[in-house]
Amino acid sequence: MRVTRKRVRNLTLRITPPHGDLRVSAPLRASDAFIRRFVIDRLPWIERHRARLAALPPAAPLEPLSKAHRDELKRAIPPLIGKWQRTLGVQVAFWGVKHMRTRWGSCNTAARRIWLNLELARHPAECLDYVVLHEVAHLLERGHGARFKGILSQYMPDWKARRAALRAHRPGAATPPPSQPTRGRVPSACSKA
Ligand SMILES: [Zn+2]
Repeated sequence: MRVTRKRVRNLTLRITPPHGDLRVSAPLRASDAFIRRFVIDRLPWIERHRARLAALPPAAPLEPLSKAHRDELKRAIPPLIGKWQRTLGVQVAFWGVKHMRTRWGSCNTAARRIWLNLELARHPAECLDYVVLHEVAHLLERGHGARFKGILSQYMPDWKARRAALRAHRPGAATPPPSQPTRGRVPSACSKA
């Protein structure tokens, strides 16, 4: 267990792959006894997460995407964008595909510009369709609030299942950072510009 004292308000625990090492960030003034108590109280949680890590297959480096995969993705996108433009009554000015480390897509609503992650080529068509709808829907609603979710649900009732399938993977999973917190942020489908 490694304890780092920081200017933070709360104690946080992280379990880092691949060996399930425990990292603790503690406020500067937290006592050792307090930190020990905090960790002991959370042993069940720690064990659960370690078990989950141990059950994961070793992260094999992904094969680089072939040109055929990229071409297939680029062919699949225009019909989807066309479909969602017509359905939602909006117009995308530009779309492109590129490698992104932390998100599946992005939408600049002012420029009406959409980027999609090349890694989507490794995922089923339903996932791509979800990300395209998600980004196109930002042209109607910038945020991820109730109105946005309402739009998704109206046109793609199973969007949550598709998102869950994507969340099981991290964009750029081929090169994970050395200490990836298990309790960090889940990669979002999107970031809005
Ligand atoms: Zn979004």
